[in-house]
Amino acid sequence: MEGYKQFTWSFKMSDLFQKSDVEIFNKRFALTTKYLPKNLIARDQQINEVVNLVRPMLSYGEPKNAMIYGKTGTGKTVVVKYVLNKLEKKTKEENFKISSVFINCKAVNTTIRIILEILDTIAPEEKIQRSGLSTSEYYNFLWKILNQKGLSVIIVFDEIDQLNDHNILYNLSRAGENQNLEFENSIGIIGLSNDLFFSDQIEPRIISSLNSRDFVFPPYNANQLIQILEDRVDIAFEKGVLDYGVIPLCAAYSAQEHGDARKALMLLENAGEIAECENAQKVLESHVKKGYELLNTNCLLEMVKTLPIQSKIILYTIIELVRKKGKITTGQVEEHYKEICKKVGFRVLERTSISKLISELDMIGLVNAPVQHRGRFGKTRLISLCNDDKLIENVLFEDPSLKNLAPIFTRPQ
Ligand code: ADP
Ligand code: MG
Repeated sequence: MEGYKQFTWSFKMSDLFQKSDVEIFNKRFALTTKYLPKNLIARDQQINEVVNLVRPMLSYGEPKNAMIYGKTGTGKTVVVKYVLNKLEKKTKEENFKISSVFINCKAVNTTIRIILEILDTIAPEEKIQRSGLSTSEYYNFLWKILNQKGLSVIIVFDEIDQLNDHNILYNLSRAGENQNLEFENSIGIIGLSNDLFFSDQIEPRIISSLNSRDFVFPPYNANQLIQILEDRVDIAFEKGVLDYGVIPLCAAYSAQEHGDARKALMLLENAGEIAECENAQKVLESHVKKGYELLNTNCLLEMVKTLPIQSKIILYTIIELVRKKGKITTGQVEEHYKEICKKVGFRVLERTSISKLISELDMIGLVNAPVQHRGRFGKTRLISLCNDDKLIENVLFEDPSLKNLAPIFTRPQ
């Protein structure tokens, strides 16, 4: 991390953007999630499963609904996009009236916005009132358009666990039976999620009306990750700039975690960027190692950023105390925590809640807090830090509620 900060760009006066004699990247976008690869590695079975969901539509039948589970970077999004792209091609060639809509529930998660998103895709020519109508008016408008156009649609809910209101799944899946749609039109639903237990959060009546097939995408192994990376390097990088150990190392690191293809691609991009900043002739294994450190630090800081405020206060308390005293106990944290709460004007939690939050911070790896048995004195935790406390502290200070804790001259505005 420290090393990375010291990298400098070497500029030539004639061309501000000329970084070195050797260019590292060619078309870098091939490493991003926006890029849709021509071929997918090790996903034939999964592609087939998705094809089978939509196949009935090509003989004027109803598509099947499905939930696709799998950890991040196991190719859920890319597999579904790949199949829907092929379906769109086939639809155009053979004049089927089939459309597909891709909804990222992280960005669009309320019922009306989702209906508008569907309408925008299937009927871009319609001028639709963006607000002021009731939900049922928006639904009716959607049924009307589908019937008018004689359309069937596949609706993909990516990151479906972020959806606000599950009723939309019920209403869309029941549209045919409720006679909102003509018999030749149908709606298929495909939900994607990292959360294997998502269906536990849905009401049974919605589950039963969805009647979905469930699939789980397995993680990639190191060899498959190597193939995924190799498939893109000719586009992403200049010829011959990757040292031979680079791709296997990116794959090994990512396979070790949970076979995450996204991480493998990000790691390769990071390594390339570091090589570029160092003005190196080639991307080396040492650049991958630095890239890996950087990637992990960024993930960690993102995690700190999104902690609830009380966890942030506890984490800050631990940082301050550990700096003064080394390893500390739960009791010491509790005492100091009360003072910090006073400084930032937050409610003081009970001892049991404080303990719970410390154990959560331990579980996600932000602190080390093993339980120690102290004979007749009972149990306590012996708490220490496992990461760069200065970096974490700076992220905590970015929270407007905690900015009073920062030294005055460094406070964010
Ligand atoms: P998920 O949706 O499961 O989190 P993505 O589908 O977004 O994962 O995949 C993450 C990244 O890895 C994307 O850039 C994607 O293009 C790439 N990727 C995933 N699986 C494959 C594969 N089988 N072949 C080629 N690239 C893949
Ligand atoms: Mg995804």
